[in-house]
Amino acid sequence: RLKEKYDLVHISTGDVFRALDPKSELAVLAKSYADKGNLVPDNVTIQILEGEVSKHPNALGVIYDGFPRTTGQAEALDKFLSSKETAVTTMISLVVPEDELKTRLIARAEVSGRADDANPEIIQNRINTYKNSTAPVAEFYKAQDKLIEIDGVGSIEEMASALSDRIGELSIEIAGSLASL
Ligand code: AMP
Repeated sequence: RLKEKYDLVHISTGDVFRALDPKSELAVLAKSYADKGNLVPDNVTIQILEGEVSKHPNALGVIYDGFPRTTGQAEALDKFLSSKETAVTTMISLVVPEDELKTRLIARAEVSGRADDANPEIIQNRINTYKNSTAPVAEFYKAQDKLIEIDGVGSIEEMASALSDRIGELSIEIAGSLASL
């Protein structure tokens, strides 16, 4: 919904990993981490991400979904974008209690067929990995005054509307700062 409304490119690193040719070395490597709920190593993930971004040289903007998940990835993204004379506008963190996350993943397992959704131990590992490796990314963007937190509990319609409002405000701010150059 957001990409349609604001004409953005959507890049989910998880989707990119799952769409690789399953027989390829890279797919087998990524799956060996993803199926256990561990992060794919930074060097591999950053390379994949940069390749995806480079496919859209004329994008108005990009929604990075599930990336960056470590401060190393965030630093690499800053460097990559600054080489293209652009930068991250904002990080939007959807805040959801752990119990609700677990309930959602167990329900999603019914339709996703993902090994990492179906198993409570793997779900717990994903949550722990988030706390240890990904939560610091919010601090990284907070220090740059770029962190927005949104209550992530609600229907898809409510989330789409809350996110759309924030992206709309950001677009106005960006247009305003360009106009004042
Ligand atoms: P997701 O679809 O975002 O839930 O990601 C599924 C799995 O793909 C994760 O548990 C990781 O194994 C891998 N993955 C996706 N994005 C990243 C990332 N930015 N860094 C490292 N691993 C990732």
